[in-house]
Amino acid sequence: MSISLGVSAEARPAALDIGGTWTRVRYGDATTRFPTEPDYDRQLAALIAAVPPGAPAIGVSFGGRVTPAGEVRVALNLRGYEGRPLAADLSTALGAPVRIAHDATCGLLGECYTGALRGHDRCGYLTLSTGVGAALRLGGVWLTTEAGHQLVAGNDHPCDCGQTGCLQTLTGGGALHRRLGRPLSDVHDEHFWRAYAESMALGVANFALSAGLEAVALGGAIPLSRAELWPSLRGALARILTYQRVTVLPAELGETAPLTGAALLPSLPPDAILH
Ligand SMILES: [Zn+2]
Repeated sequence: MSISLGVSAEARPAALDIGGTWTRVRYGDATTRFPTEPDYDRQLAALIAAVPPGAPAIGVSFGGRVTPAGEVRVALNLRGYEGRPLAADLSTALGAPVRIAHDATCGLLGECYTGALRGHDRCGYLTLSTGVGAALRLGGVWLTTEAGHQLVAGNDHPCDCGQTGCLQTLTGGGALHRRLGRPLSDVHDEHFWRAYAESMALGVANFALSAGLEAVALGGAIPLSRAELWPSLRGALARILTYQRVTVLPAELGETAPLTGAALLPSLPPDAILH
């Protein structure tokens, strides 16, 4: 697989990261960001204005599920984008081929090529912030999973997805904010964070065991901003995971992981991403 790191800035693909709140654009050595437009047509116009002409290819990280042809299938935070042919619209307007993938898959790509998961070809990436995102890599195949909606026994909290008992209701910042009446950044109760670490450890362990992963990187605001979470998490994982050894690491690229992964998308073989 040829990955176009180390070539001149002009020959590199442009990278876009379209999240529910922010959109980031990187071309050459410059990165800019602007608030994501909830209106699809206005967002398209903003993207076209932000990408300088001449990019040989464009990689797009998107905060939702897309079809193999690059049409938006499900976007819980950008409902107006659903059913719109994002890849085709960008390609027509910018005159370059466009590859698009879910932001968890792009974050995983970034961590695998330039971050915490270098050297692991059977690995996964979990992000814990407002929601819980997950993607895994098995050799040359990359895919987003629904590990945030794995069901936890004894958990009777309803989830945004319509199920009852999802991991996201115990570890997602949005669900916990609504239940606690304040953002997680304002929660400093030691018992709460120990229980949080236990839930997270169970979710990470099930995620790793279900696909036989050797390493998992944890990204997103919650694990990366709370160093005190890690000793409890590592303790719980050591107690739970007695069968298969899994290396669990903090993600290294922070909020730029999806953008870094998006830049790599045009270099991947066409069937490398399962959408
Ligand atoms: Zn759910």
